[in-house]
Amino acid sequence: MRTFRTKILLGYGASLLLIIVVLSWAVVLILRLGRASESILRENYQSIQAAENMIDAAERQDSATLLILLGYEPQGASEFRENETLFLQWLGRAKDNITIPGEKEIIYTLEKAYARYLIEISNLQLLYRSDRLKAANAYHEVVLPLFRSIRDTCIKLRDLNHETMYATSNRANKISVQAVFSISVIGGASVLLVIVFSLFLSHLISRPVTELKEAALQVAQGNYDVKVPVRGSDELALLATQFNLMVEKLKQFHDMNIGRIIAEKRKSEAIIRSVDDGIAVVDDNFLITNLNPAAAKIFGVFPEDSLEKHILEVLRDEKLFGFLKETLASGQPPHLEEGENILTIKTGEAARHYQVSMVPMRTPSGVIPGVVLLLRDITRLRELDRLKSEFVMTASHELRTPLTSINMAVNLLRESAETKLTDQERALLEACHEDVQRLRALVNDLLDLSKIEAGKVELAFEPVQPRFLCDQALSVIKAQADSKGIELTLGVPQDLPEVTADPHKIVWVLVNLLANALRYTNAGGHISLRGERVGNQIHLSVTDDGEGIPFDLQPRIFEKFVQVKPSDSSGGSGLGLAICKEIVKAHRGAIWLESLPGKGSTFTFTLPVAA
Ligand code: ADP
Repeated sequence: MRTFRTKILLGYGASLLLIIVVLSWAVVLILRLGRASESILRENYQSIQAAENMIDAAERQDSATLLILLGYEPQGASEFRENETLFLQWLGRAKDNITIPGEKEIIYTLEKAYARYLIEISNLQLLYRSDRLKAANAYHEVVLPLFRSIRDTCIKLRDLNHETMYATSNRANKISVQAVFSISVIGGASVLLVIVFSLFLSHLISRPVTELKEAALQVAQGNYDVKVPVRGSDELALLATQFNLMVEKLKQFHDMNIGRIIAEKRKSEAIIRSVDDGIAVVDDNFLITNLNPAAAKIFGVFPEDSLEKHILEVLRDEKLFGFLKETLASGQPPHLEEGENILTIKTGEAARHYQVSMVPMRTPSGVIPGVVLLLRDITRLRELDRLKSEFVMTASHELRTPLTSINMAVNLLRESAETKLTDQERALLEACHEDVQRLRALVNDLLDLSKIEAGKVELAFEPVQPRFLCDQALSVIKAQADSKGIELTLGVPQDLPEVTADPHKIVWVLVNLLANALRYTNAGGHISLRGERVGNQIHLSVTDDGEGIPFDLQPRIFEKFVQVKPSDSSGGSGLGLAICKEIVKAHRGAIWLESLPGKGSTFTFTLPVAA
């Protein structure tokens, strides 16, 4: 496999090779130049030197010949021999250094001429001894021309070498011009080649990388249909293959997730559709984004028509809309008082009642994108409740008359009991009396409660001083408190503003709360009645330091028949607080309890300040 690294190395290797070729070529040319110059020096200079020295030696030999002819034979002959040796030495060197065409012929001629010259000189010496005049003529006619021809030949040899030297220098010049030219051409071509190759290599590397980058960008934007082309088999090709494989897997995963999300969505839609309660989802702009058939039926619309519509267009209930706004703003389900969460929708004569719950939706980042509205049809429950109350009311009403006559009869019997009945009979009669009293109280409570619940009790509202109400209630309870040894404190200012209330009913509530406090506080305890203004409300509270109420019962203490110790000897029915609550509610007030078991309790209720 040709790896990416090999490709780069090959690329740079090629460039390196080109540089080596150019360098070697330059070296070859420089060497050639050097060699040419060297040969000029070595070969030609030696020949020139030899020629010059031979000329020199020949001239001296000629002078030595003249010296002999002038009568100085011994000196002339010795100088001649010295120079003859020198001449022959230089001639030998010239012979060893034949490099130029024509040089060989010249040396050959010179050799022959010099040999003849030597013979003629020996002849001249012999002749000189016999006849001096003839010798002088022979010198002039034979020896001198021979000497001249030798000198000329030497000059010819020198000139030939001179010319050759000049020609070689010219050649070296030419070679250097050629070298510059060829190096420039090859160097230029190499630079061009390297540039082209670098461009090609960078393109080769950058193209797949750019393609990968573009593809990754597409994938990041959610387009999984991209494919990177795979070229060759190097690492980049492998990377492209792996990338394509990864995108394929991502696509599968994405499709699978979408499939799962769609399945989940269908499932929850099916659940919402199948629920009998009305479910509507409202977004943060109060537009309905989902509505199940039950909710559509409640609102009297078609589900498709009401989608993306403002909730107020479908359900004109400002109070509910207010709660919805509150839920979206706070992200918490709204705090609804009893009755506030009931939506009544009238269709013609009939009215249907729905219990409304609001659940805020919350994303993991804490954003509230909407609220789920749940509407439970409680029409039947309410009807049942009404029927039950009606039954209780009728039953207690029907029981009251016979109970009154039983009570009268028992009281009559008790009057004559002392004289007419035995002790045992009297005890039985007393028990009967107590039970009748308790039964009457229960029946009365039941009747009161059911009447209030059914809205059948007419309240006579009037402006009244809170202090007056408290004084009234205390006067009822005072004797009882004294006999039990419990201290009563009154902390209600005289100057509190008047409240709008039915005095009889509120005194009843106060007496009930004080009676409870007395009942569940031991002798020596304290009970206080306090009053204060808070905004547009007067808060009245009864505090005792009695046994208190267990925490688990506290939230339900205002419900009917709730007692800490059921069927206790206190004679209570478990309806007192329920009646109190109904009365306070009818005054548009609220009632609540704060109690620490073993430490005591405080019951507080509110009344509106009179306008
Ligand atoms: P009852 O007629 O039984 O008093 P109530 O509705 O008035 O009925 O009271 C319900 C129950 O609440 C009582 O049975 C009693 O257990 C508890 N209770 C009410 N007031 C007090 C109080 N001040 N201290 C302790 N327990 C109390």
